Amino acid sequence: MIGVPELPEVEALARFLTERAVGRVVARVDVAAISVLKTYDPPVTSLGGLEVTGATRRGKFLDLDVSGLHLVIHLARAGWLRWKESQPAVPPRPGGKNPLALRLHLDDGSGFDLTEAGTKKGLAVYVVRTPEEVPGIARLGPEPLAPEFTADVLAGILQSAGRAQIKGVLRDQSVVAGIGNAYSDEVLHVARLSPFKPASGLTSEEVLRLHTAIEETLEDAVRRSVGLAAGDLKAEKKVGLRVHGRTGEPCPVCGDTVAEVSFADRSLQYCPTCQTGGQKLADRRLSKLLR
Ligand SMILES: [Zn+2]
Repeated sequence: MIGVPELPEVEALARFLTERAVGRVVARVDVAAISVLKTYDPPVTSLGGLEVTGATRRGKFLDLDVSGLHLVIHLARAGWLRWKESQPAVPPRPGGKNPLALRLHLDDGSGFDLTEAGTKKGLAVYVVRTPEEVPGIARLGPEPLAPEFTADVLAGILQSAGRAQIKGVLRDQSVVAGIGNAYSDEVLHVARLSPFKPASGLTSEEVLRLHTAIEETLEDAVRRSVGLAAGDLKAEKKVGLRVHGRTGEPCPVCGDTVAEVSFADRSLQYCPTCQTGGQKLADRRLSKLLR
């Protein structure tokens, strides 16, 4: 399960759109699944005729600046962006099993589709005047790759989180922006920390290790993702993961078997030798992570 696109994949999408879409004019937006549209003022049709002036990432949100209006996209678990060199002129037929949710046409005939597979709908699109009007953006914590995100800042965050388990703290978007279920597993594996360790219980040496692991893991994933076509990002994410989604496979560091703890709707993976002193973690502790 590769799950929600996180910081590296969304960063790569933003840079991809910077190259392909910035400087072009929005010709038309087709909404095939009205439920993905979370705002109505300004209307999505107001983007038509305006130039795309920027494409950036905020946490796991993609922010397309369209001459001062913002098309903000949150892809969620089954949502994806597909770039098309040539968009069909005929409007899409809404409803049915069609995964197409929204189609954006640019003035040269290219554009992108937002799609969402399956029944768990989480894909969200907002048209706003400032990105902070999107509640999920307004409450974002600091960006982990920003220069201001020092080990001291991380130490403060962990102290404020108290006894909350480190896994849940890392994927809480209001604490640190952009890290989700997959990269929190990866970061904790690199830092050799148990996912259930209380945040405020880390020694200063462990905080430093965690800080380095966050930066190295995310920078490495960004490096591998940027420059790839949108369609290749999910496969690249999967290749780069060392423990997440690799239950039963050997740990690339020590060779122990990667173990799993299951939740109702997700799972986490870890290496017992590298992270928990060889101990297997029990599933019953998991309710505390679902916050
Ligand atoms: Zn290991």
